[in-house]
Amino acid sequence: MNATLRRLPIFVAALLAASAIPAALADSALGRGIEHALDLHRIALGGSGRYRLEVAAATLYSATQDAANAERHWRKAFESAPSPGQRMYALQMLAESQLVAGQYDEGIATGRQLLRLASDRQHAGYRAQAVGYLGRIARRRGELQEAYGYQQESLRIARAANRPADAALALVNLGTVLRDMGRYSEAMDQQLQALDIRRQLGPGNRVDVPYRNIGLLYREIEDAQSAREYLEKAISAAREEFDPAALSSALGSYATVLNDVGDAVQALDTARRAMAIDARLGDRQGIALERLEAARALIALKRWDEADLEIDAALRLGESMRQADVMGRALLYRGDLLVGEGELAAAESAYGRSLEYLTRAQLKPQLHAAYKAMEELLDRRGEVGQALAFARQRASLREELLGVTAARRLAVLELKQDRERAERQVELLRLDNSLKELSLRTETLRRRIGIAFIGMLVVLLGLVAWRWREAKRTARVLARKNAEISAQDEALRAANARLTAQTQDLFRAATTDPLTTLANRGHVMQQMIELFDRHKAQGARLSVLLIDLDRFKPINDSMGHQFGDRVLIAAARVLREEMRDGDPLGRYGGEEFIAALPGASADEALATAERLRLAIQRRMGVLEGQAVALTASIGLAELHETGAGSLSALVAAADDALYRAKDLGRNRTEIARAASDRRKPA
Ligand code: GH3
Ligand code: MG
Ligand code: MG
Repeated sequence: MNATLRRLPIFVAALLAASAIPAALADSALGRGIEHALDLHRIALGGSGRYRLEVAAATLYSATQDAANAERHWRKAFESAPSPGQRMYALQMLAESQLVAGQYDEGIATGRQLLRLASDRQHAGYRAQAVGYLGRIARRRGELQEAYGYQQESLRIARAANRPADAALALVNLGTVLRDMGRYSEAMDQQLQALDIRRQLGPGNRVDVPYRNIGLLYREIEDAQSAREYLEKAISAAREEFDPAALSSALGSYATVLNDVGDAVQALDTARRAMAIDARLGDRQGIALERLEAARALIALKRWDEADLEIDAALRLGESMRQADVMGRALLYRGDLLVGEGELAAAESAYGRSLEYLTRAQLKPQLHAAYKAMEELLDRRGEVGQALAFARQRASLREELLGVTAARRLAVLELKQDRERAERQVELLRLDNSLKELSLRTETLRRRIGIAFIGMLVVLLGLVAWRWREAKRTARVLARKNAEISAQDEALRAANARLTAQTQDLFRAATTDPLTTLANRGHVMQQMIELFDRHKAQGARLSVLLIDLDRFKPINDSMGHQFGDRVLIAAARVLREEMRDGDPLGRYGGEEFIAALPGASADEALATAERLRLAIQRRMGVLEGQAVALTASIGLAELHETGAGSLSALVAAADDALYRAKDLGRNRTEIARAASDRRKPA
C-alpha cells in the first residue's frame, strides 16, 4: 500500500469537511464524510494514521456540538493511539468533552483512567491535570471539601514538577472552590497568584480566566465597579486569545454583573452573545447559565414570554445535568415571572421548589431573594404567620450575608494591602539586588581595569625589554663590524707598511751597491746630473773626484778575492766617513769610486781629496791583522776650471787627471786642466 493511498481517507474527510462546514456545521453530510473516510481507512490499515484521523473526527464533532460522536471518536482515538503520550492526550480530551456534555460519572471514570496512566508513565503534567479534573467534577457536584483536596493535590504535583502552567491551572480551580466555600480572600489570593504566573508565561496562557474569577469575586462582595473592571479585562484578554470558550465565559459573567447593576438591556445583549458562542461549542452548562441571565434581564424588561422560554430551556438543561444551582435559579426566576403574571399559587410552588435546590446548592444571595419573594407572596395572600417565618429566615440570612459580605470585603481589602506590602517588599528586594549587582559590576570593572593596566604594563615592559635586547644586539653587531673594520685597517696598514718597506728595499736595491752599501753608479750619476745642471745654470762651483785604489789586483791575488771584498768594504766606509754628509758618493765600478763636492772650487776640492787619500793611507795600512798598505789615486775636475759642457765631459776630465796620478807614481791627487789643455797632448 503506497503512501498516497494511505492518505486518501484523510483527503476525503478533509474535502467533505471543508465543503460541509460553511453550509451547516450540524449538517449530516459532514458526519457522513467523516464516517466514510474512516471506513475507507479501516479497510486500508491501522496504525498512527488511524489515530490522527480519529483525533480529526473528534475535533470536528466537538466543533459541531455533536457531543456523543465527539466522545465516541475520542474514545477510538484513545484505543488507536500508538504512544502513551497520545493515549493520555486522547483521554484528557475525552474527559473534557464529557465535562462539557455534563456526563460527570463517565468523566470521573475517564479522569481516573488518565490519572492511572499518568502515574504509570510518571507524567507530572497529566497527573496534575487529571487530579484537577476530578476536582472540577467534584466542585460541580457540590462536593466542595473533596474538590478542595483534589485541587490542593494538583497544585502540589505541579509545583513539585516545576510546571508553572499546571500550577496556575490548579490555583485557578482552587480559587473557584474556595469562593464556593465562602473563603473569599483566600479565593482572591489564589486567583491573583494564577494571574501573576500566567502573565509571566506570556501569550496563550489564559489570563482571562483569573481576570473573570476576580471580577466574580468582586461581584460577590458587592463591589460592582471592580467587578466590571476585571470582567472587561477578561473579555479583552479572551478576544486576544481567539478562544471562543474563554470569550463566552467572560461575556456570561459580564452579563451577570450588568443584571446586578440593573442594566437589563446590555445584560440581555451580552448574555445572548455568550449563548451564541456556547451553542457553537456545545457547552451546556454555559448555555444554561446564559439562559438564566437572559431570563433575569427579560423579567426586568417585563418581556414575560421570552423570559419563560429561556427559563424552560434552562430547567431542561439543569435537569439533564443534575445541577442544583441552575435548577434553583431557574425556579426562582420562574416564580418571579409567575408573580409578574399574577399567578401567585404557581409562583409559590416554583419558589418552594427553588428553595430546596438553592439550599442544596448553598446559593445564599439567591436563597435570600427566594425567602424575600416567599415572604412578600405570602404577605400578599394574607398568610401573615408563614410570611413572618420567612421574614425571620430572610433577616437572619440577610444578617449573615451582610456580616459575611462585610467580613469578606474587609478580608479582600486586607489581602490587597498584604499583596501591596509584599509587592513593595519584592520591589525593595529587587532594588537591593540591583544595587548589589551594580556594586558587583563596579568591582568586576575595577578588577578588569586593574588587570588591563597590569597587562599593558607587562606588554610595555616586554616592548622595552625587546627594544633593549634589540639595541644590545645592534651594539654587538656594530662592535663586531668595528672590530672587523679595524682588523682590516690594521691589515691594510701592515700591507701598506710592507709595501713601503718593499718599495724602500726595491729603491735601495736599485740605488745601492750591495757590497759597499754606497750609492751605485746609476744612482750617483743621476744625483750628479741634477747637481751639474743646477750648478752649471747658476754658475756655481762643482767639483768631481774619481778615486781609484792602487794596485788592488795583487791584494786579490795574494789574499783571496773575499778578503779583497772586505778591503773594498772597509775603504768605502773610510771614504763615507771622511766625506761631508749629504755630498754624493758612489761606487763607480770595480775598485773605483766617484764623489761630487757641490760648491767646491778646485782648491777646496783638492783639500778634501787629500784628506780622503790620507785617510785611506792612514786607516787602511792593516786590515784584520794583515798588512794591506792600501793607497788611492784621485783625479779631480772642477766645472769652471774644466769648462765641461756636460757631466760626462767633467767625469772624463777627472778620469784624465786620475790617469795622470797613476802615471805620476800613484797615491796622489791630480787636478784636471781646461778641457782644451787636456786634449792638447792627446
Ligand atoms: P793600478 O795601480 O794600476 O790601478 O793597479 P791595479 O791592480 O789596481 O789595477 P788593475 O786595473 O790592473 O786591476 C784591478 C783589479 O781590481 C782587478 C780586479 O781583480 C780587482 N777588482 C776589481 N773589482 C773587484 C772586486 O769587486 N773585488 C775584488 N776582490 N777585486 C776586484
Ligand atoms: Mg782601476
Ligand atoms: Mg787600481
